[in-house]
Amino acid sequence: MHLVNNTSIMEREVRVRFAPSPTGPLHIGGVRTALYNYLFARQHGGTMILRIEDTDSQRFVPGAEAYINEALRWLGIEIDEGVREGGPYGPYKQSERRDIYREHVKMLLDAGKAYIAFDTPAELEAARAATPNFQYDARTRGTMRNSLTMPADEVERLIAEGTPYVVRFKIDGGRDVEVNDLIRGKVVIKSDILDDKVLYKSADDLPTYHLANIVDDHLMKVSHVIRGEEWLPSAPLHVLLYEAFGWADTMPGFVHLPLLLKPDGKGKLSKRDGDRLGFPVFPLLWTDPVTGAVSRGYREDGYLPQAVVNFLALLGWNPGDDTEIMSMDELIKRFSLEHCSRSGAKFAYEKGAWFNHQYLQQLPDEELAELFKPVMQMHGVEPSGFSPEYIRKAVGLVKSRINFVVDLWAHAGFFFKAPETYEEKSVRKRWTPEMPAIMEEMIGWLEELPDFSAAAAEQPILEKIKEKGYHMGNVMNALRLTVVGECKGPHMFEITELLGRDETIRRIRRGIETIKAPQE
Ligand code: GLU
Repeated sequence: MHLVNNTSIMEREVRVRFAPSPTGPLHIGGVRTALYNYLFARQHGGTMILRIEDTDSQRFVPGAEAYINEALRWLGIEIDEGVREGGPYGPYKQSERRDIYREHVKMLLDAGKAYIAFDTPAELEAARAATPNFQYDARTRGTMRNSLTMPADEVERLIAEGTPYVVRFKIDGGRDVEVNDLIRGKVVIKSDILDDKVLYKSADDLPTYHLANIVDDHLMKVSHVIRGEEWLPSAPLHVLLYEAFGWADTMPGFVHLPLLLKPDGKGKLSKRDGDRLGFPVFPLLWTDPVTGAVSRGYREDGYLPQAVVNFLALLGWNPGDDTEIMSMDELIKRFSLEHCSRSGAKFAYEKGAWFNHQYLQQLPDEELAELFKPVMQMHGVEPSGFSPEYIRKAVGLVKSRINFVVDLWAHAGFFFKAPETYEEKSVRKRWTPEMPAIMEEMIGWLEELPDFSAAAAEQPILEKIKEKGYHMGNVMNALRLTVVGECKGPHMFEITELLGRDETIRRIRRGIETIKAPQE
């Protein structure tokens, strides 16, 4: 069914790049793009480049680049060449490559493939107002103020005077432009629908995204451009730029990954969906440097990086069978462009929670305990007040019930803080008038136990309850109520074993003193 038949592309040394613009926190869709690039690079023994595309100074956000680095590090997406790693084709930050772009703009100008335009914003506005659907292109450029319509000496004079100008790409009309997309096949568009894109602005002496992106992909010997579907409309222009430079022979293979869609409908996944449905759309917590607004992140929400990687890998790709749990190494082995889908992938965030659950179960209890410590602190409990073994056992007893590390508190918090309140519904149901006296008896039985371990305690205590003819359900739940504060949690005698005899008895006493028998 697939169209990956361009052998020359497949035989090239694989060099891919992740090329984010540092305009804010990396979106989860960007993370998936980085991941697919990485999987593809590693599978082919190729090179993974991280290029920072910061030519749009208006949209530059401080902290965004550091955030990108930290997110990739956290997820285990390793970079071979980049700003910090260095490499033979640096610098890897576009704002440090001005000379290279200037030189390439000149190459296009000299070859007559681009031209200089002086139209002011007001003049462009007027052109748009005068002509419906105005587009700066082969049909209209002859009516505008540019080096194609103005005498050469005037152009030179304006430049010498420092008049701001832009360089536009001269796109010929009447052509079919072919983009060879490795998952979508051949995409053909008419060059007439393209406008003469601005490639460079003299005002800030910087190229636009399109020029910088193509020049760098070429100079960095990028073999495959793997990026989000939102860049597909730019691809024809990129193909034309490759041709204009005379680089058509080394044009990379294009791969436009399917959009991530809203979990509950059509349309692109947005931050608002996350806010509305309660899931992060960013890998790490992000604090907006201007507004101070905080956006939650997968890391801080308690996701394990392995789970996020596994979850994202399957949003737009499948291994060809129904395997779901795959480590990074396995993903590297199994990844293939053939099994990337063309249609959008619904962002089923609950599945992310499911993956996290699976990976948490695989984690040794020691590691889980480490992850739990900050959560304890969040709840005002100092981990050093408990032995490592105690914390480890507590998380071990409840981990099968959790999807997230933070959930551990709801299930195991009582191991670290004695209950202060008691769930009302269970009090009403279980705390019968004779219960305080029965609990006094219970204390006696527990004190007498020679061995307080779960295995040794269970039978004798249950026997006593039976012997006395007490209501088993009420007594055991009343006990649980005093110890846990509510009628849920792991096996009762596992709980008492871990709490220990003294703490268990202390809690029962407090229950007897504080739980009010329900009013008739
Ligand atoms: N700088 C673009 C971005 O932010 C890169 C797009 C591409 O990969 O060509 O996604």
